[in-house]
Amino acid sequence: MAQRTRTLSEMTWPEVEEAIGRDAGVFIPIGATEQHGYHLPLATDTILATELSYAVADELDFLVAPPIEYGYRSRPLSGGGQGFVGTTSLNARTLMSLVEDVVGALVDQGFKRLALVNWHFENQNFIYEAAYLALERHPDSGARIVLAEHPFAELSQETLDVLFPSGFAGWDVEHAAGMETSLMLHLRPELVIFDRAVDDASERHPWYDVLPVPDDFVPESGTLWKATQASDRQGKVAWEEIVAQFRSAVATEVSPAKDKAPGV
Ligand SMILES: [Zn+2]
Repeated sequence: MAQRTRTLSEMTWPEVEEAIGRDAGVFIPIGATEQHGYHLPLATDTILATELSYAVADELDFLVAPPIEYGYRSRPLSGGGQGFVGTTSLNARTLMSLVEDVVGALVDQGFKRLALVNWHFENQNFIYEAAYLALERHPDSGARIVLAEHPFAELSQETLDVLFPSGFAGWDVEHAAGMETSLMLHLRPELVIFDRAVDDASERHPWYDVLPVPDDFVPESGTLWKATQASDRQGKVAWEEIVAQFRSAVATEVSPAKDKAPGV
């Protein structure tokens, strides 16, 4: 049967059953509903995680589960914090329960090749724990899960030079800044209000965090670094490398069982 769609929620249950029978995998994109400056949509992290999933779904025979569109609490030094209208977050327990339940249900149904595809910095570790607990409940499932918690963590120096012509300030402040703006200009330009993009920074950005949140940890715009130098050309260069690294990780760690054990 030809694969009519890769979108799990648009498939019928017999189509899902057929996909599981041939050992198709499943991606779970995880993002946030979080302010991304004056120029990017609240769904930026969810969109990028979902686009990354679809970018390799066909060639690696994966389905794409409904994305998790809410993320863990936005932190001021990596996401601007909770003080912006629109930022709508989960506490860690809710996020972990949600991810654990979704992963557990998919494993229960028989999926053996899974990947959590995350784009929201603050979700890291919580989704690892959720996946860990889900597998602990299914010790004999034979399922394997790739945790792509930070899919752009190891871009080459060449790509960093293209993305950040005036210097790379660190991934924590790349929120609504050069990379995300460039990627959105490349992938979803209709959602970018580029003439409202700004270069901004918090007054202070120390190595430690503080509660309650100090006002001077939060830039007024919600953009944590330079967004005005972004372009679709830079986005294309970065995206191609991010997709290639993701494809390689998934193909290496959760390739179909039939490839591992021919004839079985
Ligand atoms: Zn983001």
